[in-house]
Amino acid sequence: MAETKTNKIPHVLLFPFPAQGHLNPLIQFGKRLTSKGVETTLITTTYISNLILSHNTTATSIAIETISDGFDEGGFASADSAESYLEKFHEVGTNSLRDLIKKLQSEGRNIDAIICDPFITWALDVVMEFDIKGGTFFTQACAVNSIYYHVYKGLISIPLGSSVSVPALPQLEYWETPSFVHNYAPHYYPGWTKVVFNQFNNIDQARWVFTNTFYKLEEEVIEWMRKMWPLKVIGPSLPSMYLDKRLEDDKDYGINLIKANHSECMDWLNDKPKGSVVYASFGSMAQLGPGQMEEVAWGLNDSGANFLWIVRDDEKENFPKGFLDVKTGKGLILAWCKQLEVLAHDSVGCFLTHCGFNSTLEAISLGVPVVGMPQWTDQTTNAKYLEDIWGVGVRVKADEKGVVRRENLVSCIKDILEGERGVVARKNAAKWKDLAVEAAEEGGSSDKDIDGFIYELKE
Ligand code: UDP
Repeated sequence: MAETKTNKIPHVLLFPFPAQGHLNPLIQFGKRLTSKGVETTLITTTYISNLILSHNTTATSIAIETISDGFDEGGFASADSAESYLEKFHEVGTNSLRDLIKKLQSEGRNIDAIICDPFITWALDVVMEFDIKGGTFFTQACAVNSIYYHVYKGLISIPLGSSVSVPALPQLEYWETPSFVHNYAPHYYPGWTKVVFNQFNNIDQARWVFTNTFYKLEEEVIEWMRKMWPLKVIGPSLPSMYLDKRLEDDKDYGINLIKANHSECMDWLNDKPKGSVVYASFGSMAQLGPGQMEEVAWGLNDSGANFLWIVRDDEKENFPKGFLDVKTGKGLILAWCKQLEVLAHDSVGCFLTHCGFNSTLEAISLGVPVVGMPQWTDQTTNAKYLEDIWGVGVRVKADEKGVVRRENLVSCIKDILEGERGVVARKNAAKWKDLAVEAAEEGGSSDKDIDGFIYELKE
C-alpha cells in the first residue's frame, strides 16, 4: 500500500463538473487510484449525491463528500439557463468548497491533492487558497483542448477562415473545430463559451494536468502539451473489465444519473444476431429538434437494421408522433441504458453517436465502428478524428439547414453494417481496442503516468 512520508495513506479529492460525461472519467480515475492504495474522495453536489442514493448505486470504493451548487433540489435542469446555473454554481460553490476543505482539515484528514475539472473554472483558485496541491483533469480530447488554448491565447483569429492550422493537429475545415470556435459569437451559448476558454485561466497553477486519452491515440498533440504543462495522460478512463481487467468487478462507472432499464435492454439484445444492431445515442445533454428527431426515427427504421435508440425523458416531447404505431417493429427505444454493456454486446454492429468524448473513447476502446452525427461543442472535432484520423467510421452529412436527412443516415448505416467502409472501420476499431488495453495494462503508458502521479504525491 502506498504511504506518504508521514506514513499516512495519501488522500486525493476529485471534483468533476456535475454532469454524467464528467463524472464518469473522474470516478474511474478514482477507482484506479484506490486500487493502487490511494484514498479517494469524490466531491459532488448535494443534488447529484441524493440522486445517487435514490438510484441505489454507488461509485464502489470511492467516498463521496458534497458541496452545494445553489440548486440542491433540482440540479442543472432546474436552473433557468446554463448561464444562471454556472453563475450560481460559482457564487455558492466557492464558499461551499472552502467549507468542505476546512471541515475535512478540522477532522484531521490529510488532503494530499485536489484534482478539479477545468469546466469548474474557479475550483483550482479555491484549492490554491489552501496549502494543498491542485491538479486539473481535462475530460475532452487533447486536440480539442489545444484548439481552445490557441483561441484563448489569440493564436487563432476569430472569425475563422475556411480552414484552420493548429500545431500538432491535422488541417481542419472551419466546421470541424468545436462549435464554440466556429460559431464564436456573444449570443452562442455565452455561459459554455466562457467555460471552455476559461479552462486555461489558472492552468499554470496546476501541479498536474491530467487528460483522459491515451498516448498512441493523440501522440503528436500530447507531445505538444507535454512541453506546456506537467501532463499525465491516464485514459481511457473506463471500467477495468473493458480494458486490462485488473480491477475486480469493475464493469460499470457506478453512477447513472438516469435509471437504466437494464434487463429489458439485455433481453432484447440477446435475441439479435451478431453485428445486426445499430445502437443510437446522443448522450446526456444534446437536444435534437423535432425535425431532426423525425429524420433519425425514419432513418433508423428505413435502414432495415435492428436498432436500440436512447431517447431521454427530457427529449420525448420532440419524438415524432405516430412513429411508434407505424415503425416496422425492429426497434427498441429506451430512456437510458448501460452503454458500455450495450457496446460490448456481440449483437451491436454500429454505434450512431453524437461523438461526445466519452462515447468516442468507449467506441474506440470496445472496438465498435461508428456513424458520427455530431451536434455541438467538441463533438464536431471528435467526429473528424473518428472518421479521418482513427478510421473507425463515417460522419453523416447534414443539409444546408443543419439537419441530417434520413436517406443519408440509411446510406451511412448500410456502409458500416454491410459495406466496404464497415470492413475497414472494424479492422481499425480492433487495432485501437488493442492499443487502449495496452495503455491501461501494467506498465502501459497510462498506467505509468498514474504511478508517476502517485509517486509525486508523496514528494
Ligand atoms: N451513457 C450511458 N447510457 C446511455 C447514454 C450514455 O451510460 O444511455 C453514458 C456513456 O457511456 C458516456 C456518457 O453517458 O460515458 C456520456 O458522455 P459523452 O461524453 O459521450 O456525452 P455527453 O453526455 O457528455 O454529451
